[in-house]
Amino acid sequence: MDFFEKLGKKATETFNSAAEKTNKIAADTKLKFKINDCKSKIDDIYKDIGRIVYQNYVLDGKEDIKEEIAEHLKSISEITDQIEEMEKQRLELCDKKQCENCKNEMDKNAKFCPKCGAEQPEEEVHEAEVVEEQTDNVSEEKSEEATEENKEE
Ligand SMILES: [Zn+2]
Repeated sequence: MDFFEKLGKKATETFNSAAEKTNKIAADTKLKFKINDCKSKIDDIYKDIGRIVYQNYVLDGKEDIKEEIAEHLKSISEITDQIEEMEKQRLELCDKKQCENCKNEMDKNAKFCPKCGAEQPEEEVHEAEVVEEQTDNVSEEKSEEATEENKEE
């Protein structure tokens, strides 16, 4: 009996971690897909800019074409930010982080970068946030419930 109980438990554990892994891979794949999508959007914008520059500068003889491409440049910056955010999410999914110095990917808990040797800052952001909120809301106010709800976005 004992053996089979153990075996059952082990199988459940293995299944759970396998399922978790599958979920992570699926989420990672989704992010990769979105990132590629964003990158091709940026490529399209670059092409547009090229066309605008050629049309205005060469064909229409305009010296100053800043205004014509301003929106496009803004879009590139916005999409680039989105990509960075998604890359961060991907790293978190894989329990990895990026080197502050050389952007090398490494284990989340690594204290030094295996590539450049740079010391990594301790990442306890979430814990720090919780502690701060608790000390801020020592008094029992009604707003506490509201902030509690707003937190989960
Ligand atoms: Zn490094």
